[in-house]
Amino acid sequence: MSTDVDTAAQAKGPKISKGVIAQFLRTNCRRQLYLSIHAPLRDKPLYDQLGIPPAAKWRPGLVSLTRSGRNLEDERFDELSIAFPDCLTNFKTTQGHTKGRNTALREMLSLGVGVPHLLIEGEFQSSALTNTFYDAIGIAPEVACTLPRLADLRPDIILAVTPNSAFLSERRPRQVRRDGSTEAIPLDDQRTWLIPIDIKRSEALNASYAIEVALYSILLALWLEETGLSDRYLVIDKPALWMLDPPGAKPLEELRSIPTDLRIAALLQRVEVVEFDQYVVSMRKIFRDDVVAVTAVPKWSELEPHVGPYCGMCDFYANPDWAPKDKITGQKESVHPEHCSVKVRDLDHLSRIPDVSRGMARTLIDDHVHSVTLLAGRLPEDPVFGKHNRLAAERRLLPQRATHLLAGTRGPTGRQCATLPRYSHLSAYIFVNFDAATGFTTGFSVFGNYRPPSSRSRLRTLGRGVG
Ligand code: SF4
Repeated sequence: MSTDVDTAAQAKGPKISKGVIAQFLRTNCRRQLYLSIHAPLRDKPLYDQLGIPPAAKWRPGLVSLTRSGRNLEDERFDELSIAFPDCLTNFKTTQGHTKGRNTALREMLSLGVGVPHLLIEGEFQSSALTNTFYDAIGIAPEVACTLPRLADLRPDIILAVTPNSAFLSERRPRQVRRDGSTEAIPLDDQRTWLIPIDIKRSEALNASYAIEVALYSILLALWLEETGLSDRYLVIDKPALWMLDPPGAKPLEELRSIPTDLRIAALLQRVEVVEFDQYVVSMRKIFRDDVVAVTAVPKWSELEPHVGPYCGMCDFYANPDWAPKDKITGQKESVHPEHCSVKVRDLDHLSRIPDVSRGMARTLIDDHVHSVTLLAGRLPEDPVFGKHNRLAAERRLLPQRATHLLAGTRGPTGRQCATLPRYSHLSAYIFVNFDAATGFTTGFSVFGNYRPPSSRSRLRTLGRGVG
């Protein structure tokens, strides 16, 4: 995990940090995107004028999760410092952000680094690249000037390796370009290859982590160009995540006596390389579609909430039961009327009914059924239920659920379960591997078993039926 760094000027304005992108990827909610972009305004009068609710960081386990992520980073940095004492520079200060730190990486790369080399928490000023980045990914200047600035970024690790490095042999890397496309690297190109690596307390790669390092790669490539360092360095399309090691993995520090190249190879075996091309598509879409859309809304409160399980990862749900108490007065922190827990109740919003998707709610609202109360009054035969597949499937259930929710009662759903037969003659399986983050179908296969009914099994079946 990296930390976004605030300069004094930008800390006060709307901005897009890696945390904003990560939260949006988890919730896919534009209301959340708007609110988290504007969270840095919290001490400004404009914040109250706009009626923006403060981030409610009350979610159970949030503090310990954040702390445990930071602890893992510290453990990893210690491990690397011991394993690579001869080829590591740690820009992290014990005092937090210090003056001059944001220029240290540029100064070091300008002087030249021997390879391989590990650069820990080297910061580059992506905030200054905001307009260049928007232009590079194809956002028109008249739109780009209305968008929030980027936060400065600090990848946990940047690994610098020799060109044509043998560590990365299974596919020849390509160079990341400023717009997120890639190009072949000529064999005689002598520039040092840079690889951003992020540390995550996770056992498996997920889209939000992968998109973060894809974004680091593009911004680092852009920064190299803008600072005149691209004649000596390039970013390759193999950003990586260092997640939890498998049980029994040897600590890297135990390898400190072996040659540097072998230690770097051991480190690269620990990390998971991200499919850059795949995730950059989603990254571009977030900026071009979602950020542009939420910035253009005339009145932010028109971004409708739609609560669901993903709200458990959002700071703007604000479950009143979890609100912390003031240590002196014993009063619970108040919930803002625009916090979604309150807002959906006040609106009597359809998403209060479990499993009502955004698409179902939109279809109902388009037909003037915009509240739980109105839904409770509809009969299963109502034509609105024929306008959406899931509404059609749940036409009997939904009005009942709405009624129970309003009355605070419960009752049987009327659903029936059928038992499965003990065996089948034909079993067919269709597997579709669809990545919702990128919109790509990455695999498709069909598999089947057929057992012709034998005379014996027919007899057995018949015998049972007769008996
Ligand atoms: S609580 Fe849910 S609906 Fe509200 S902003 Fe967050 S993700 Fe969106």
